[in-house]
Amino acid sequence: MAEALIIFKPDAAHRLAVRAGIWSWLTTEREWKIESLAWYQPPANLIESHYDFLQGRPFFPWLVDFMTALPLVVGRVTASAEALERMRYDLGETRIAQSRPGSLRERFGIFGGINCVHLSDAPETGAAEVKRWSGFLPLDKVEVKLEPTTNKPDHTYHLRSLATQVAGGIHVELATQSIRELIAQETDLTGERLEALYRITLEALT
Ligand code: ADP
Ligand code: MG
Repeated sequence: MAEALIIFKPDAAHRLAVRAGIWSWLTTEREWKIESLAWYQPPANLIESHYDFLQGRPFFPWLVDFMTALPLVVGRVTASAEALERMRYDLGETRIAQSRPGSLRERFGIFGGINCVHLSDAPETGAAEVKRWSGFLPLDKVEVKLEPTTNKPDHTYHLRSLATQVAGGIHVELATQSIRELIAQETDLTGERLEALYRITLEALT
C-alpha cells in the first residue's frame, strides 16, 4: 500500500461547488481510503520545502502565497501504487490549459496553476510528503466531513474565460471586476479572507 498526501487547494477549499465536486469524487473511495482529513493553514516554510523542486521558477512566490493565504483541507490517503496513478489520472494535467477534458482540473480549475487539488504523484513522493506534513499536523484521523452538494453556483468556465482575458491584457479592468463578483458568489468567505481569495486568483494571471 502506498500513502499519499491530498490537499484541497484554496480554490477548491473555498469555492463551495468545487469543494462539493471534489469531495464527491474523493468519498467514492473507489480504490483508495481516506485515512485523515483536517483543516490546516500551512506556514510558508512548509510550502517552500514541499515545493522545493520549483524554487526559482517565476511563479514560485505566487505559489507560496496561494498555498499559505487561507486554510486548506489536508489529508492522507492509502492506495496501491496503480490506484494512486489512476487517482492522478482523474486529477488531470497540472496546468489548466493542458488538463484532460473531464478531469477534475479541467472541470474545476480556473487558470494556470490554480488547479484545485494536490495529490502526491508516486509512492516515494507520497511517503516523503506524509512524513514532512505530519511534522506539522496529525495525519491520523478524519476530522472533516465536507458537503456533497451546495446551493452556491459553479462559475468555473466563466472564470476561466475572464482569466484568459486578464492574462492576455484584454479588458483587464472589466474582467477583473467580473472575476471578483463571480468568486464572491461561489464562496462564503468575507472580509480579509475573501480579499485573499481574490488576490491569489488574480496574481496567477499576471
Ligand atoms: P502537480 O500538482 O500536477 O503534481 P507540480 O508538482 O509540477 O504539479 O507543481 C506543483 C504546483 O505548482 C502545481 O500544481 C501548480 O499549482 C504549480 N505550478 C506548476 N507548474 C506551473 C506553471 N508552469 N505555472 C503555474 N503554476 C505552476
Ligand atoms: Mg506534484
